[in-house]
Amino acid sequence: MHSDRKRLRRYDVESRTQTNTRAIERAIKLGLALQSDPELKDRLRLHLCKACHYFGPRIAGQAFTDTQCGICRVALQFCNTDVDTVCEACAIKHDLCIHCGADQELRKNRRKFAFDPPYKPPPFRVEAPKQIQMATPLLLPLRVANPKGEVS
Ligand SMILES: [Zn+2]
Ligand SMILES: [Zn+2]
Repeated sequence: MHSDRKRLRRYDVESRTQTNTRAIERAIKLGLALQSDPELKDRLRLHLCKACHYFGPRIAGQAFTDTQCGICRVALQFCNTDVDTVCEACAIKHDLCIHCGADQELRKNRRKFAFDPPYKPPPFRVEAPKQIQMATPLLLPLRVANPKGEVS
């Protein structure tokens, strides 16, 4: 394979330097924001976790999307495909990020899972064994092995 390289000019070096410098500045600013949470009030008002609030809106398809709350199943409608996971009432009630469904403060030792009760196996029932219908035996010709071990 051959990739044709265009001649590098002073403009290319300066332009790439500026682009990458800005990208690094944005990444540092974002990192600091994720650490210090300067928009805490707004974030809590919007019921978002730090990741969803500071990483901002994702790329989404432009299509009205119907879905339902992942907890109470109420119908939810969005004007694009980047839909929320739970409704506002459930996000508030369960301290969850409305958008991704994570713990709103991203606590790893969360114990509140009231919306998802532990699995209880159904009560054990003994049922009478069902009658098994036997297939009528087929009358097949007997296969006899000859002394060489070949089946005829
Ligand atoms: Zn809900
Ligand atoms: Zn989130």
